[in-house]
Amino acid sequence: MEMQILRKTKWGGFKNARQMEKTQVIQIVKDSGLKGRSGSNYPTGTKWESMGPGERYLICNADEGEPGTFKDRFIIENNPQLLIEGMCIAAYAMDAHKALIYLRGEYAYLKKGLEKEIEKSNKYLRQIKLSIRIVLGAGAYICGEESAILESIEGSRPIVRKKPPYPAQAGLYGKPTCINNVETLANVPLIFSGGWDKDLLLFCLSGDLKKPGVCEFKAGTSMKEIISAASPSVEPKAVFFGAAGGCLPYRKFENLPLDDASVSENGAMLGSRALIVVGEGRSMLEISKVFAEFFVHESCGYCTPCREGNFRILELLKKIMDGSDTLCDIELLRKLAPHIRDTSYCSLGRTSTNYLIGAMKYFESDFTKLCR
Ligand code: SF4
Repeated sequence: MEMQILRKTKWGGFKNARQMEKTQVIQIVKDSGLKGRSGSNYPTGTKWESMGPGERYLICNADEGEPGTFKDRFIIENNPQLLIEGMCIAAYAMDAHKALIYLRGEYAYLKKGLEKEIEKSNKYLRQIKLSIRIVLGAGAYICGEESAILESIEGSRPIVRKKPPYPAQAGLYGKPTCINNVETLANVPLIFSGGWDKDLLLFCLSGDLKKPGVCEFKAGTSMKEIISAASPSVEPKAVFFGAAGGCLPYRKFENLPLDDASVSENGAMLGSRALIVVGEGRSMLEISKVFAEFFVHESCGYCTPCREGNFRILELLKKIMDGSDTLCDIELLRKLAPHIRDTSYCSLGRTSTNYLIGAMKYFESDFTKLCR
C-alpha cells in the first residue's frame, strides 16, 4: 500500500484552502489534530493562531540532525511538492509572505532539487505573494532547536534564546515567526485534499536490521511489529530512540505501543521516532561511547555542565573500556549523567545523557564487567 506521505496531491490541498478564509484554514488545522512531528507535539493550528501582528516569517525546519533520523530527507527526496504546498497553505493561513527552508548542512545535495521544486511552484507562490528561500546550515546539531535556527539565519552563533518572548511574537529579525518541521508541513496538504489519517506517523529504522529505512505506522503500533517490518539481522537487545530519547531493552518492551505517552511512562522519549536497533552481542558500553563522542562534538560550549560534563563522561567510558576503571568511577558516571541533564542550559544538554542513563539502568553488567 502506498505511504500516505508519498501521496501526490497536485496542489489540490492548496486550491481547496485558498477557497477559505484564513481563519477557517487555521481552524481546520486545529480541528485535524495535527501536532509538531519533530517530536515537540505542539498543536500546529494553535501555533499558527498565536502569531503576532505585522510582517511575519515562516521557517521550515529541515535541520534534521538527531542520530538515526532521516524521515525529513525521505520526504524532500521523494515528495518535495507536498512540502512546498504545505508551506504555501501555512503562509496563506498566517498571512506570511517570506518563507525560508533551513536545510541541514549535510543535506546540501538536496538544495538543487528543492530549488527546482520551488521554481515549478511559482504560479502558486505568486498567488499569495510568497517567496521561499533556502538557507543552508553549517551542520550543527543545536540548530535543530527553533530559536538557534533564528540566530543562525541572522548570522550569529546559534545559542538557544531565552523564552519568552516566543518566536511567534519576536522571532526572525524580531518579527513574528512560525517554525514548523518538514514532516509537519508535508501533512498539511493531505488534510485539505481529504482522506488524511492523523495517526499515521513516519518511523526511521536503523541499526542491526536487514531492511533499514523509513516506514509509516499508526501511533501505538507495538515495537515488535515495527521492528519486524525491517527484518532484524540478529535478535534485538535494545532500542535507542535517537540519541536524545534514551533506550529500552527489547525483550522486556517488545509489546510496548510506540506512542509518546507509553514510551515516556517507561523512562524514554519517542521524540522524532528514530529507532536504532542494537542486536544481541553488542556492548552497550561501546555504543554509549559513540553517543558520548557525538555529544562532545555537538555541545556548543556555552554552558559548563554540557561542555565539561560530556567530555568527562567520554573520558570515563574510555577508561572503563581499556580496563583501568574502578567501581568508584562507575558510581561517578551514574551521578554525573543526571547532573548534566538537570543543570544544562538548553535541551541539547538536558537530553545529552539520556542514552547513558537508560543503558546503565538496563544493562549494568555491560559497564561493570570490565571494572577492577
Ligand atoms: S546545553 Fe549548554 S553547552 Fe550544551 S548545547 Fe546547550 S547551551 Fe550549548
